[in-house]
Amino acid sequence: MKNIYFMGECMVELRAMSAATLHQSFAGDVYNSAVYLKRSFPQVATSVVTALGQDNLSKKMLERFESEQLDTQFVFAHDSKVPGMYYIETDAFGERSFTYWRSDSAAKKVVSFLNTDVVKQLSQGDMFFFSGISLAVIDENAREDFWRVVKQLKSAGVKIVFDPNYRARLWNSVDETKTQYDLAFGLADVTLPGVEDLTTLYDVHSVEDVIEYLKIYNIDEIIVKNGPESVITQLDNTLQSHTIIPVTNVVDTTSAGDAFNGVYLGARLSGKSIADAVQLGAKAAGAVIQQPGAIAPKDVFQLAMAK
Ligand code: ADP
Repeated sequence: MKNIYFMGECMVELRAMSAATLHQSFAGDVYNSAVYLKRSFPQVATSVVTALGQDNLSKKMLERFESEQLDTQFVFAHDSKVPGMYYIETDAFGERSFTYWRSDSAAKKVVSFLNTDVVKQLSQGDMFFFSGISLAVIDENAREDFWRVVKQLKSAGVKIVFDPNYRARLWNSVDETKTQYDLAFGLADVTLPGVEDLTTLYDVHSVEDVIEYLKIYNIDEIIVKNGPESVITQLDNTLQSHTIIPVTNVVDTTSAGDAFNGVYLGARLSGKSIADAVQLGAKAAGAVIQQPGAIAPKDVFQLAMAK
């Protein structure tokens, strides 16, 4: 059985439904990817690597992971912290606004749980995924330990997968981000950037610019996403362009990239070609953006994927 680890933060989501009603669910980039991967490729063991607390919401989050058939052996329980949370509201013009409580979340402590024993177990895996958000979230003083773990996994033969997923407000400065991304790109075997993510950081404006920029690193597999525009991939220096069929009924683009990543990686772990994996990833993303929220209902998602 192939297996993949998704390291990062899942948060409590509070969505305003009306003046008096909030709908509570769970979301976060790596969790979203894990869910869509597992729903599409149940034969791939899919683990979330994170830290929660010991409170009731943490317990519910863990139950949700389990109900999505995700492996939770690397979901750690911090003794005093609680999960991060965000509130999302959509105004009359469809514009979404977010408020976050995540600066002291349990997930910031995840690296402290990655002891020798855990790293030994993680070394058995096929892929280890983290994003720019995962990097921004972990405690600054844990970064050195984090990179040591990533290097250990890489030398054990685990493929390192990185999506830069840049969120400016999570970082102190662009220089800090660039330093961390340089380490991430330097260790990545696979990367899945979106053009928009990298524009502010590296002044790149097209998929071609992104491919050109990444030439300074030694990355085997590059997948560049660009919203409804074509996806460009590079495998062992061979470039390929893949046409995406734009979706007209876009309701909420939250987690388009996450769904793409999860399903793409599941497809690759299941032996699919790059071209087939891109089409499956794009199909998943296209289905997800026609639904509100990060996680589409399971039946709706599976129906769309079966078409
Ligand atoms: P992110 O969510 O990371 O910003 P993108 O906006 O680049 O990611 O979108 C990720 C993927 O979602 C794209 O590569 C594409 O497959 C799909 N996608 C995004 N927008 C559309 C759209 N309007 N129609 C069809 N597919 C889309």
